[in-house]
Amino acid sequence: MIQLKGPMRDLPKNAFCSSQASLERLVGDTSPILVVTCSDHDRTCLKALNPQRVIWLQGAANLTRGEAAEATVEYALCKKANDIVICGHVACTSLRHILDSKDEDLPKAWQGIGSELRDRVETCYGQQLEDSQRGLITAAEHLLDQIERLVLQPCVQDACDGQLRVHVWLHSEEGDVLYVYEPASNRLYSGEEQRTRF
Ligand SMILES: [Zn+2]
Repeated sequence: MIQLKGPMRDLPKNAFCSSQASLERLVGDTSPILVVTCSDHDRTCLKALNPQRVIWLQGAANLTRGEAAEATVEYALCKKANDIVICGHVACTSLRHILDSKDEDLPKAWQGIGSELRDRVETCYGQQLEDSQRGLITAAEHLLDQIERLVLQPCVQDACDGQLRVHVWLHSEEGDVLYVYEPASNRLYSGEEQRTRF
C-alpha cells in the first residue's frame, strides 16, 4: 500500500471502483470501456480487457487535454461505455521528458506541467521520500491530475451520476505491479493487496 500525500482531488468518489470485485466485473462485462493509456506503454498489463470492447485514448504521458481527447471521451460515452480506465505507468519516457525539460523546449500545451508537478512532490513529500519511490509517487500524482481533469468534462460529470465507473491504475514495470487507486483513502493498493482486502 502506498499512501499519497498530495491534495485530495475533487473526484466523484461514488463512481470510483477500487475493489477486486469491481475489477473482475470490469473484465466480465460486455459494454464498451474507455481506456486512457500512454503512448510509450506496452499495454501488457491491460491484456485481460477484451480489445473488442476497448475504445483507446492514447497520448504521451496520459495527457487528457485538448479537443481531440475530449471528443474521444464524449464518443465513448455516446457508445454507452460504462467504465473509464486510466492506466499510467512509472517508467514513462514522455513524463520523464516533461519533467527534465525547460518549459520553452516543450510543446505549448505541456508547459508548466513539469515544474508544477516537481514542486508539488517536493512540497508534499519532501525529504521523507526515498529516491526509489520518487518516480512512482510522481507518476501517481501526475495520473491523478489527468483523471481529475478528465472527470471535469460535463459529459463525464453527468455520467458519474448514473452508471459510469472510473478506475485509476498505475503500472510499475519494476516487479510488474499494477496498483489501483482508492480516492477515499488517497492510497494505491497492489492487485495482490486488493485480493486480501475484499
Ligand atoms: Zn509513458
